[in-house]
Amino acid sequence: MRILLLEDEPGLGRAVQEHLTLAGHQVAWARSVADAEERLASGNPDLVLLDLRLPDGSGLDLLGGMRARGDRRPVIIMTARDQISDRIAGLNAGADDYLVKPFDLAELVARTQAVSRRSFGEQAVTCDEGAISLDFTGCVATRQGEPVPLTAREWELLHLLARRPGAVVAREQMEDKLGFIAAETGGNALEVYISRIRRKLGPGVIETLRGVGYRLRP
Ligand code: CA
Repeated sequence: MRILLLEDEPGLGRAVQEHLTLAGHQVAWARSVADAEERLASGNPDLVLLDLRLPDGSGLDLLGGMRARGDRRPVIIMTARDQISDRIAGLNAGADDYLVKPFDLAELVARTQAVSRRSFGEQAVTCDEGAISLDFTGCVATRQGEPVPLTAREWELLHLLARRPGAVVAREQMEDKLGFIAAETGGNALEVYISRIRRKLGPGVIETLRGVGYRLRP
């Protein structure tokens, strides 16, 4: 999983980065809100670990901005024991969980995995002007009310697009995320999967933005 870590304390930031890396995650470490905003846009993280008090502002600004844009990627806030009001504000702003500093690094790993599973499982979206409904909990897709069987790979691809409804996901990010190998179907595995999904769910469900990427039509 790709994790964006926003933390300005060098010791804690380093420890968290090292521990999550050992657990098999890719961690991008931002030390300021501005840096995190940039990495959020360019790095396509799966989960955000958020300190709230940063030199250039509050982590809540980042969280508020994400939720206002319809970005539902999971966010875990990290606060000090005496900052209960921060924690409540964080949860109200749409955080998925919180950790109280100092926390156990093994617990951090467990929480990130739990939040990530939960955010995958709870999601259900409608798209293509309501014609298609995708329930990621039970892996049930319907087109005009009729169930449509999809493969695990197709679900994975749709989930990637559904995390930010209407937002464009870059082609490279999708290929990378889905672990497509260039040799697979002659280097255009992604197009193959997308055309299969279009055959099943209708031509309009995934829009191609030439040279940019793909998006789920809301
Ligand atoms: Ca701080």
